[in-house]
Amino acid sequence: MMERDADDSLARRVHRVLDRLHCAAERAGRSSETVRLVAATKTVQVERIREGLQAGLSLLGENRMQEALSKVALLQDLSPRWHFIGQLQRRKVRDAIGRFELIHSVDSVELAQEIDRRAGAAGVAQAVLLEVNIAGEASKAGFQPDALMRDLASLGALPHLRIQGLMTIPPPAAQPEEARPYFRELRGLGARIRAEGIPSVTMQELSMGMSHDFEIAIEEGATLVRVGTAIFGARHV
Ligand SMILES: *Cc1c(COP(=O)(O)O)cnc(C)c1O
Repeated sequence: MMERDADDSLARRVHRVLDRLHCAAERAGRSSETVRLVAATKTVQVERIREGLQAGLSLLGENRMQEALSKVALLQDLSPRWHFIGQLQRRKVRDAIGRFELIHSVDSVELAQEIDRRAGAAGVAQAVLLEVNIAGEASKAGFQPDALMRDLASLGALPHLRIQGLMTIPPPAAQPEEARPYFRELRGLGARIRAEGIPSVTMQELSMGMSHDFEIAIEEGATLVRVGTAIFGARHV
């Protein structure tokens, strides 16, 4: 019975998440066109992603390069847009260039330099977001806000990068509301950076909010929400 309903229920889940996204935008007095849903597809089978695309998803985010590359190839006929949202190893950068419209997870100057170098060699400009460790967690990747302000000039000078905004993952919390101060802080940091007026650092995107807190993130200015579980169900890997 559960199995037989699986298709319907995925379509329902997609519509339900899109509805919640629209309502949160409306509550915040924003047009829902200013918020894009990135479906986080790590560990999700290709056939299920395909159903999701048929149900209205259009933008997919993957975490691991190998898994991503095989999905990009297998889903080419539906031409989804792809973002890379996971930790990117420097030796995998070459595979990312030109395949992912946006890399959300640039977490060091060294990684930014490598992306710049590879994009230059391919003759393209790569759009990226800078990942910020907004709560200063020892276990987490990303720029510390102060370090980011210091590194900004050198990041902005990389000719083949387009730095379009910031991404963060707040500390785990029991209540979605607990993430709000971090989302607010990220938005403030984005505004401070934008005020520096560096031409290649445009800062129009804020990638924040996941299944349990994306509505709060939208209320705080998210332009990209990365949602996995609320669409595809719990991951079993
Ligand atoms: C898995 C993942 C998500 C989605 O998380 P859910 O809680 O399943 O919505 C978002 N962002 C990143 C970077 C992820 O790895």
